[in-house]
Amino acid sequence: THRDPNQPEFQEAAFTVLDTLKPVLEKHPEYIKANILGELVEPERAIQFRVPWQDDEGNYQVNRGFRVQFNSAIGPYKGGLRLHPSVNLSIIKFLGFEQILKNSLTGLPIGGGKGGSDFNPKDKSDSEIMRFCQSFMTELQKHIGPDLDVPAGDIGVGGREIGYLYGQYKRLNGSQNGILTGKGLEYGGSLARTEATGFGLIYYLNALIKDQGESLKGKTIKISGAGNVAIYAIQKAQENGAKVVTASDSNGYVYDPNGIDLDTVKQIKEVERGRIKEYADKISSATYTEGSVWDLDIDYDIALPCATQNEISGDEAKLIAKDGAKYVAEGANMPSTTEAIQVYKDKGIIYGPAKAANAGGVAVSALEMSQNSERLSWTFEDVDGQLKDIMENIYQKSADADKEYDLGKDYQAGANIAGFEKVAKAMLAQGLV
Ligand code: NDP
Repeated sequence: THRDPNQPEFQEAAFTVLDTLKPVLEKHPEYIKANILGELVEPERAIQFRVPWQDDEGNYQVNRGFRVQFNSAIGPYKGGLRLHPSVNLSIIKFLGFEQILKNSLTGLPIGGGKGGSDFNPKDKSDSEIMRFCQSFMTELQKHIGPDLDVPAGDIGVGGREIGYLYGQYKRLNGSQNGILTGKGLEYGGSLARTEATGFGLIYYLNALIKDQGESLKGKTIKISGAGNVAIYAIQKAQENGAKVVTASDSNGYVYDPNGIDLDTVKQIKEVERGRIKEYADKISSATYTEGSVWDLDIDYDIALPCATQNEISGDEAKLIAKDGAKYVAEGANMPSTTEAIQVYKDKGIIYGPAKAANAGGVAVSALEMSQNSERLSWTFEDVDGQLKDIMENIYQKSADADKEYDLGKDYQAGANIAGFEKVAKAMLAQGLV
């Protein structure tokens, strides 16, 4: 803590993970001797840079850019770029640290990194976004490469931004290297990337629930969000015979006891770019309420937070337990507060943490890197099939660690341990680097 006194998000993430690693260290004193934990919490490199750009009125603006290259023990740094006013070094380090273990869990050769800027894309014109992205990449391109560091999108960075960033990299380097993932299908993107996180969440959930002797068929699900993750989680859950009864945005939620009509949600969110409120105008069985979907009092079996960080407080977690839900699996990054996670444990709710449950997005990004290296494009079925295998393996590795260390169905600790062990072994093998 003395090194990073002003980094509360990073400290919380690091302490939470380190706490769950105690049983591994007792079993493997060689990790302590080699100070693996000391190295793990120290990024290999943290780059901070100025991003000057010109707004539409001709004013010069300056933002702060970051790329934290946290750990390359098992492969090139991989992790998204976030554009949001809240971005600072602490948040990027927290996300980058989590990414090391998430990427390790996928079983693919990718290290951990994260980046972004405190630029707010929400109120900017298309040309302002382009000028910002070009300036950001003018510096970032010095530090990335297909075998070194391959960034992707995150909050505020979608297909449009990836396109502008990629175009600038190409212009400066004269090469077509796959230095970013999340690209358009016309220039090196992967089929099934759009669906990957939502589908992957349900593949993970299926494996988890099967292991408890149950199935998704006939289960009632409450989901939050109506964005990329939520939409494809709803689709795959319905394909598995579950009934999803909610969807939400930052203003409110819809409740449809007949089950959410996915085509209507897709039309509103993906075509019309409207608000979830409009669902209740189109579907007569649905009601719209302002506020958090976690405060809706109905009986259901599974909670899938797919909106944003810290959306479930301790009190809301108590409501989840009271409503009879037995499972929580996280599509969003860190949607449950520390208090909420404690409630899940106290009430015997089985908890699938983001690091494991939402790793489908980065897994398919790594498959995009493979396709770019091969100069090939795989079919949707091929990528989707690999995604399913990867997610089932992630659950299995977490469950195996849970059994090995006798954690009592603590799949959060299981995921941390399974992700850590691969990285720790690789770090140990490579010596002081
Ligand atoms: P989107 O921007 O597509 O969708 C986010 C959704 O959540 C929107 O419907 C948004 O509503 C809603 N939302 C935002 N804030 C709140 C809030 N306070 N209360 C209720 N709803 C809210 O993002 P994604 O679906 O891509 O990402 C969702 C989460 O999943 C994020 O945490 C992201 O980091 C994580 N994630 C995403 C991956 C991916 O591949 N897309 C991969 C791994 C993690 P509104 O329109 O009002 O903002």
